[in-house]
Amino acid sequence: MDNEIETTVVIVGAGPGGCLLAYLLARSGIETILVERHATLDREFRGYLFQPLALDIFEQCGLLESVFELDHERVSRPEVVIYGRPYATIDFEALGGAYDYALLLEQPPLLKLLIERAAEYPTFEYHDRLPARDLLYEGGRIAGVLATDRRTGEAVRIRSRLVVGADGRYSTVRSAAGIDPGRLESKLDLLWFKLPADAVGEVAQARFDDTGLLLYFGLGGGEAQAGWFIPRGSYADLREEGIEAFRERLSTVDPGLDGVLPSALRSFEDCSLLRIEPGMSERWVEGGLLLMGDAAHIASPVGGQGNVLALADSVVAHEVIARVLSLDPGDGPLAACALSRYETRRRPAVGEVIDAQRRAERLLAALVLYGGRIPRPIRKPALRALFSLAPRTHAAKRTAELFAFGPETVRVDGMWFDQEEPEHSSERRV
Ligand SMILES: Cc1cc2nc3c(=O)[nH]c(=O)nc-3n(C[C@H](O)[C@H](O)[C@H](O)COP(=O)(O)OP(=O)(O)OC[C@H]3O[C@@H](n4cnc5c(N)ncnc54)[C@H](O)[C@@H]3O)c2cc1C
Repeated sequence: MDNEIETTVVIVGAGPGGCLLAYLLARSGIETILVERHATLDREFRGYLFQPLALDIFEQCGLLESVFELDHERVSRPEVVIYGRPYATIDFEALGGAYDYALLLEQPPLLKLLIERAAEYPTFEYHDRLPARDLLYEGGRIAGVLATDRRTGEAVRIRSRLVVGADGRYSTVRSAAGIDPGRLESKLDLLWFKLPADAVGEVAQARFDDTGLLLYFGLGGGEAQAGWFIPRGSYADLREEGIEAFRERLSTVDPGLDGVLPSALRSFEDCSLLRIEPGMSERWVEGGLLLMGDAAHIASPVGGQGNVLALADSVVAHEVIARVLSLDPGDGPLAACALSRYETRRRPAVGEVIDAQRRAERLLAALVLYGGRIPRPIRKPALRALFSLAPRTHAAKRTAELFAFGPETVRVDGMWFDQEEPEHSSERRV
């Protein structure tokens, strides 16, 4: 690999946001390099829920059929079991819309698909094992990224007109630009672990009682992902109590797990801790720089919105970048004022989702922290609001629609696609 590369756009991070943007830019004939620090796209414990808005975006991109070919589950009415009694929660069928279900889908096959489809265009290059470690400045302006080739250990300079920071919640690009992540306070952490799918009833469900709140998502392939909310910073105490005590808590909420927990959850090594740290970075664009997805804003896990926010960002970023490049065919960094339309459009939309999540998270935190100590007359309406049970009020219906369809319509601007989609070859595999 050359130690000096030139391109128009370099995208740092092959998550859902970076991969979809790479595909859209490549399809628009824009020279694009996507760099990823890891050797593979495999990742544990990532987002699985893709709401109707995500399906609409895939459809507009001409990708939906291929997405349906990936191993997935459809979810129409995720269930919640409260004190042993099942309730239907957000009902995608009742909400109407072109897609009246969500998909449970693992990220790696989706990311692979997006990169394969981008690689069908000659303007695209993908480099794994190439972590960006800093921004490249020329004449005081952002002019690309400095990366390290993990195969050789050598430094690589990628010069570009635009750097897109799509490198997730701990974004190197964001910190290299000195942008504050705008972290918001949270009272909860989330512990993830896997269970055999046949130990779990519905593919998507939650179970709640005085002991705590347990979430399940089917993963296909005989596995289910489970999540357990804990008070922030209390993981060390939980570990101190021991795995047996933790297994007992889980069995109290779901006695059906009794038989499988000793083998599925042998020790805390089988668990992975997610710190819930929502945030809104102080700015998302600068001259030659654009942040998107988790690098720009971190959603709370409530309502599973992180994937779809990153996908919607890439749709809007694509339209703005393509337009700015068409108006400014020079070779310097793209101007901040021209890129700012992306932030002006997306910040209020993302803010609306994060605010709704934080309202729900406050209820959730009260239930997890004080559980059975909350008097029943207060607990019942809190649970109803939290799980959108029977969303009869206008506000509850609006929250359900917001989580399903997003706060705004997002249109993929096919005007910039300068070529027909090529025949999909099975030879260019990542
Ligand atoms: C445990 C867990 C469960 C979740 N569940 C859900 C869910 O059910 N539904 C949902 O919608 N969301 C969920 N999310 C959130 C969702 O995963 C994220 O919001 C989403 O992946 C963000 O996409 P992204 O493209 O912005 O970044 P990411 O997916 O974080 O991807 C960033 C990429 O950048 C790479 N990278 C980082 N630094 C560098 C560097 N210096 N150089 C090169 N590459 C770099 C990383 O390796 C990674 O591949 C969950 C998150 C976690 C952690």
